[in-house]
Amino acid sequence: MNLHKILQTALPVALALGFAACATTKDIPAAGAAVGDALMGDWQGYRVLPSGTVLPLAVQLVTYGDDLYDATVLASFEQRDPDRFVVPLRKDGDALSTSSDPGFRATVKDGLITGSSPRGNIASFTLRKVQRLSPTLGAQPPAGAVVLFDGKDMSAWKVAGKEERPAAWKLVDGAMEVAPNGGTIVTKRQFGDCDLHLEFRTPFMPTKRGQERGNSGVYMQGRYEIQVLDSYGLTGEDNECGGIYKVAPPRVNMCAPPGQWQTYDISFRAPRFDANGNKIASASVTVRHNGVVIHQNLAIPGPTGGAVDERVTEPGGLCLQDHGNPVQYRNIWLVEPAGTTGR
Ligand code: MG
Repeated sequence: MNLHKILQTALPVALALGFAACATTKDIPAAGAAVGDALMGDWQGYRVLPSGTVLPLAVQLVTYGDDLYDATVLASFEQRDPDRFVVPLRKDGDALSTSSDPGFRATVKDGLITGSSPRGNIASFTLRKVQRLSPTLGAQPPAGAVVLFDGKDMSAWKVAGKEERPAAWKLVDGAMEVAPNGGTIVTKRQFGDCDLHLEFRTPFMPTKRGQERGNSGVYMQGRYEIQVLDSYGLTGEDNECGGIYKVAPPRVNMCAPPGQWQTYDISFRAPRFDANGNKIASASVTVRHNGVVIHQNLAIPGPTGGAVDERVTEPGGLCLQDHGNPVQYRNIWLVEPAGTTGR
């Protein structure tokens, strides 16, 4: 069957399967291509087996610069996929090739990637670019919320560990951006239990790898880090985006491509101690990353690496890590339980 014929027969099935599968998926407007690289990002569609069976296909294209990419192939964007695999790709004009399959053919044209992979047992595949946006992007603080950054004013923050030294991060287009040597910053106000909303985006650093690629972090009470990292398209480890640093990996890697605004909605419960100071309950968190629960009532046994202090019986400020990369934050607010007074 030639490609045209396959497309004709497969398209109705594909519309029912891949292209309409994800409720939070939204087409990228022509002018809204991801920052830095037009191919980078989520692609969704279907593959046709030699038997004619049509299956959904989700691909994350990670860029490493110099026209080199990794294609992470998944059954679904929003579930951890034990069968995920990665295909290294090279782009040459409109053509994509891979050293892992000499028979692989793929073309980027009119917003679609189409091709075939004999070694992958795929007679044809068709992918269309999609952008999954968090349903909580732009969430407004409810009445009584503590607004920590409204896009203009960094006065709620100071440099961590240094009394009254103002936060030296940059204000860029309504965001706070980590500045070189600006230091990790912390709120002047201290908190116990709280529900936090914040938005962040990682910089486009295609030639960097691992912990050098868009690293920052959100420390509840300055002690418990929910990692911020450009780990788009990776497996989702405990030191990658959404990981409780070196404690627990996210249930699924919900990291968006660099340059795209993302959300953390974090319910934090501070540790509990009895009258003698003995711990009776660890700190715990429920974290939604871009709207998807990645940790549910997860106990954190103690402060994670890089914590600003170990005074776990006391309230603590919200901390944002300077790891030397220009990560941006915006729309930061939290809600404390009823009856909590400001500290
Ligand atoms: Mg970090």
